[in-house]
Amino acid sequence: MVYTMQMDKQMKNIPFAKVVCDGNEMKYVQEVIESGWLTTASKAKEFETRFAAMVEAKHAIAVNSCTAALHLAMDAIGVKAGDRVFVPTMTFTATAEVVRYLGADPVFLDVEFGSSLLTPYILQEAIGKYPDVRTLIVVHFGGQAAKLTMPEGQGILDVCRKHDIKVVEDAAHAFPARLNGKIVGSFGTIACFSFYANKTITTGEGGMLVTNDDEIARRARVMRLHGIDRDIWSRFRDRMPNWEYDVIAPGFKYNMPDINAAIGLAQLERAEALRQERERCARFYFKALAGLESIELPRLHVKPEEHAWHLFPIILRANASVSRQRFIELLAEEGIGTSVHYKPLHRMTYYNNVYNLTSRDFPNAERIWKGCLSLPIYPSLSDEELKYICHTIIEIVYKTKK
Ligand SMILES: *Cc1c(COP(=O)(O)O)cnc(C)c1O
Repeated sequence: MVYTMQMDKQMKNIPFAKVVCDGNEMKYVQEVIESGWLTTASKAKEFETRFAAMVEAKHAIAVNSCTAALHLAMDAIGVKAGDRVFVPTMTFTATAEVVRYLGADPVFLDVEFGSSLLTPYILQEAIGKYPDVRTLIVVHFGGQAAKLTMPEGQGILDVCRKHDIKVVEDAAHAFPARLNGKIVGSFGTIACFSFYANKTITTGEGGMLVTNDDEIARRARVMRLHGIDRDIWSRFRDRMPNWEYDVIAPGFKYNMPDINAAIGLAQLERAEALRQERERCARFYFKALAGLESIELPRLHVKPEEHAWHLFPIILRANASVSRQRFIELLAEEGIGTSVHYKPLHRMTYYNNVYNLTSRDFPNAERIWKGCLSLPIYPSLSDEELKYICHTIIEIVYKTKK
């Protein structure tokens, strides 16, 4: 194939992420503005109902970020000061910071090379070392569900049940994602989703806590809005005088406004279609980049159609002719945006200092971190753009000298 990179050079501008908002977003937002009620009301309620149905969970509680949902989850399961919580090191800081909100301490775990996922094996080892830990936050990295359950048993949930460990899923990347046919959100734990601008569906800013547990749902609903026993909307609809309410705890201000929920409702309508477009991108990368010696492609234990495909993280191997930093710069020079997921938390100043962490305890995360970068993956990314990205990558790894 003849490929003329020079010609395309000035034309290409492929950002790392791009929001798709070409459905009913405008229409539903307009409805909210015309209704005169802009904060949490019927649209947020409808968004919760639809979301719960989609992830096959009993309760869905809309909040203004996934971080808020994770915080409410820690509160609802009763994590308290001095407790310790297992958290994988390969994640965004929100996963661990919510543990600190309660005065508890994260115990960081290494992840599997190639998938960046926590595995039942790594967890089992950690339990041997830290038998007192009673809570785990598991991250479905990049949109691939961690091995919560396995056909032959001994999944993460089985290990946790055996050791009386409560599980919260950080599902910020994982809507919609499945594991052995079962959708993430329906596993009977607490799962927290993100609708931040660059996530798989967005409300601008937003999050959702889902659970099948009535008590946890009740506590999360109360704490979501100042510890008030009923939300604002129902206050105006019940027969009680509308000035009457009670505060039962010092809660938070985490409710999702209807303007955001309206965007979310429109995004939900196309969530699976958008996921399929990202799957198309992933399949393109797998085909075009297969067999490149210097690049490790994502390792999958789920089928491509079960993956949410929030990220497409590759790992530049140590023997590559180019450094990760130079690789990112060269791609940027050709108009291709990339990102890095993640600099592991054990390398972050705060966690490193407070918990006196050493890289030696995280060999796989270290290997990933040294070479990882994430390629663009979003519904509007065309096959032509994907072809350009892949050709550029191939040019760089073959032509660049150390
Ligand atoms: C984005 C993200 C969060 C936080 O989501 P917000 O909605 O921005 O609060 C938490 N965990 C992971 C893994 C994320 O990527």
